[in-house]
Order: sequence, then structure tokens, then C-alpha cells
Amino acid sequence: MTESHVPHQPQAFSLWREAQDTRTRTPLGGIYYLLAWLLTWGFSNNPLQQLPIGLIGIAIFALLLALRLLHRLPDEQTPAALRRWLNHHWLLILSTALLWGLAHALAQTHLAFSSSTIIATLSTIAFSTALVFTFSMRKRHATLALLLLYLPGLIGLALDWQTHHAMVITLAIYLSYLLLALNRSHREYHTTLALELQLLDQQERLDQLSRTDSLTQLGNRYQFNSLFPVMVANAQRQSQPLSLVLLDIDFFKRINDMYGHACGDSCLSVFAERMRQNFRRDSDTLLRLGGEEFGILMPNTPLEQARVLAEQFRQALEREDFDVPGATLPLTASLGVGCYDTHRDDSAEGFFKRVDDALYQAKAAGRNRLNLA
Ligand code: GH3
Ligand code: MG
Ligand code: MG
Repeated sequence: MTESHVPHQPQAFSLWREAQDTRTRTPLGGIYYLLAWLLTWGFSNNPLQQLPIGLIGIAIFALLLALRLLHRLPDEQTPAALRRWLNHHWLLILSTALLWGLAHALAQTHLAFSSSTIIATLSTIAFSTALVFTFSMRKRHATLALLLLYLPGLIGLALDWQTHHAMVITLAIYLSYLLLALNRSHREYHTTLALELQLLDQQERLDQLSRTDSLTQLGNRYQFNSLFPVMVANAQRQSQPLSLVLLDIDFFKRINDMYGHACGDSCLSVFAERMRQNFRRDSDTLLRLGGEEFGILMPNTPLEQARVLAEQFRQALEREDFDVPGATLPLTASLGVGCYDTHRDDSAEGFFKRVDDALYQAKAAGRNRLNLA
């Protein structure tokens, strides 16, 4: 469940899961239908005399097996494609069930199979039992498959009620058990599915939490570390400008020293809120990289555009004091702004360092200023 292509939306997930389960569970059944026919025919009274029937049976069950094996999941696993695949695959399952049901009825009624009738009947019981536990994802489909598998032989037996009534009654009782078991198995399958979905949802929420800074609700360093190299690679591949703004609050230690750590925390929250108001594009990723250091990743943004937005932010900070519980404080920041450049930056780290150096120079030059990388 760690694959990235697992859909998280409940309906899409159920469909995806059902298709995967159907696919993994289908080959085994196919093999045993063929094997059961080989035994039923091979141990009939005189197999060579029944050669045409034997060969037709082999051809049919081998073909169904091949079709099941070759029927692979679609490459493009959209809900529509998966639904279509499942419908087609159920046609194969239902056909196999019907053809085995008919084979069983033949073994019941044809004298040439009197010595191997029991093999066919036992196989039918085994197949039906396996079916209700293996293909319980769709109750109506599975019920139909069960009846197709089970009823022809039962009817074949019932035709000679005098001789077979004990067997017919026993098999009918067993059929009622199978129907109940299918019902339960279906419920359990969907309960497990719901649990799995819940787990997936929690996983996603935990993942989100681990990427979010709890004080400011901005992305954290971990989020930056996983996102930055990917964005740089995308920018490189698509030849699109990627800008990075790094900000560091000026003399922040003094605020802690003079007003206390709680006040410092409030300043950081307000700072983050101001960032959200200034950098509004959905594609911008706002981050708290540590302490009183922040960053903004701006894909598809040339240097000049990033500089204008960042300078606007710096001026707004300078203009408006910070209103925090118990104090109104002036607060400024120093900024480094850069745009990824394939000729200059040999790596994502190189690019980061270039912008970080620009920020350092802004600090060295007196703070409350923006420096281009
Ligand atoms: P400069 O202008 O050179 O950046 O000076 P500065 O004081 O901002 O930088 P310095 O690195 O000396 O100090 C950063 C301070 O930020 C020190 C630390 O107490 C404070 N700080 C870091 N994280 C937090 C936090 O989560 N909450 C609070 N309240 N303060 C923090
Ligand atoms: Mg700092
Ligand atoms: Mg600082």
C-alpha cells in the first residue's frame, strides 16, 4: 500500500482494490478446472472411447485458463478502465462456472462417466466453496457464478430422484451453507476494505502532519528537503524558471530576550500569516526552514517577478508593526532571492547556497534589505 499510484478517494480505492484482488486470485481457479476435467475424463470408464468429448473439454478449459491469465489489468488504471476490466473478467469467471456446471451434469447423467462421477461432484463442491471465499467482492455476481456451477449437476441428479434423493438433499443443504458463507465473506471483504481505506487516510494525515510546522502551519524543513530537488529537476527538464526566496528575521533574538519566548512565537505565527497574505499563488510553497528562517519556492516564476513580490513583502513588514499579545513591535527581515540557472547551478544544493549567500550578504550589508543571488 505504499505505492504512489494507490487512489485515496474511497470509491476509486475500492474499485482499484477489487481489480487487484480479482487479478491475483483468478489464475489458481483456472488451473484446477482444467485439472478436474482431466481427472473426470481420464478416470471415466473408457477415456479413449470418449476421446472427442475429452478433447473438447480440455480445449475449452485450457482456453478459459489462457484467457484468464492473459487478461491483464489495463495500463491506464482509471475508474472507467478498471470497471470495464472487471466486467470482462467476470464474464470469464461466469463462463467457466457455467461450463464446469455443465461438465458436472454430463458426468452425472452420461453412463460412460459412472466411474468418475464422484470426482466431478467433489470438484464441484470444492470449486463452489473456493468461489464463495475467493470472489466475494461482488455478491450478485458471485451468487450467479455459484448457481451456474452448482445447479446443473444438482438438477442432473434430481432427474433420477429415486436413486439420488439422499445426495440431492445433502447437496441442497450444502448449497444453503454456501449462500450464507458468501454473504458473510462479502461483508467481511468490504469491512476490511473500509479499514484499509481508513488506514490509508490516517497515513496521509500523518504524512501531512510530519510535513507541517506546528507553530506556523507552513511546510517544514522535511517538506522542503523532499520538494526542493524535485522542483529543481522539473524546472531543469521543462526549462521553466524556478525562483527561491529565503528570509531571515532581523535581530529576532532580541525579541525573545526582551518580550519572552511566547511573544517570539506569536511573532513567528504572525510572520507566517503575513507571508500567506503576500504570496498568494497556489503554486507557491511557503516554508519555515527553521527558527526564524523562512523560504518560498516559486515555480514558473522568473527572477524579476520573484524580486518584486519579495520586495513588496519586505516593505510591508517595514511599514506595519507586529500586533502580538502584550506588544506592538517593529520587525524586519533580510531576504535573498534567486532563480535557478542551469549554467550557474550544478545542483539543487548549489542553487540553495547561492541564494543563502545572497541572504547572508543582505545581513552583512545592514539587514532589512533584499539581495539578488
Ligand atoms: P540576525 O539579524 O543576524 O538574524 O539576528 P537574529 O537574532 O535573528 O539571529 P540569531 O541566529 O542570532 O537568533 C535567532 C533567534 O531565533 C534565536 C532563537 O532564540 C530564536 N528562535 C528560533 N526558533 C524560535 C522559536 O521557535 N520560537 C522563538 N520564540 N524563538 C526562536
Ligand atoms: Mg537565523
Ligand atoms: Mg535572524
